[in-house]
Amino acid sequence: MIYPIVVYGHPVLRKVAEDVDKDYPGLSQLIDDLFETMYHAEGLGLAAPQIGKSVRIFVIDGSPAAEDDPSMADFKKAFINVHITERTGDLLPMTEGCLSIPNLREEVNREAHIRIEYYDLNWEYHQETYDGYKARVILHEYDHLDGIMFTDRVGPLRKRLLKGKLNAISKGMFEADYKTILPGQKVKV
Ligand SMILES: [Zn+2]
Repeated sequence: MIYPIVVYGHPVLRKVAEDVDKDYPGLSQLIDDLFETMYHAEGLGLAAPQIGKSVRIFVIDGSPAAEDDPSMADFKKAFINVHITERTGDLLPMTEGCLSIPNLREEVNREAHIRIEYYDLNWEYHQETYDGYKARVILHEYDHLDGIMFTDRVGPLRKRLLKGKLNAISKGMFEADYKTILPGQKVKV
């Protein structure tokens, strides 16, 4: 099922999401739906809060970025109960966008290396390290689980300049090729 994507300003995007149990109802369906919704909206990643579910799950398929970074071609995964256990390395700048903030792109600084733990769809536990583009996408999606938007991480001057644009977006003044839920609208949980 393709879900509408929750837009900037909606309270569900500001909640700290919770871990799920192994027998969380509809877990594998939820992951299928996240992938389907992400593909429909042509995103690289999608976190559960972006479809209104405040749980620590996100999916990534890096293949659209394979031209910029060939290692992204087969980077397709679902991450369940994700926790970052280490962030190291210099802060590197990169331009990011987000399906919850249509048509806005900004440069964001993030750590170069991370160590994470998570469960996969077969409920196997993993500890892995990532850097480069993969770490970037994981850090962006992970922020959604902590109620953080990428625009929170731009410098203070940019932040001030973005305020009006973000306000307009949260009022629905944007065009997107996918369905959205604006702040004030109810999400189906
Ligand atoms: Zn995002």
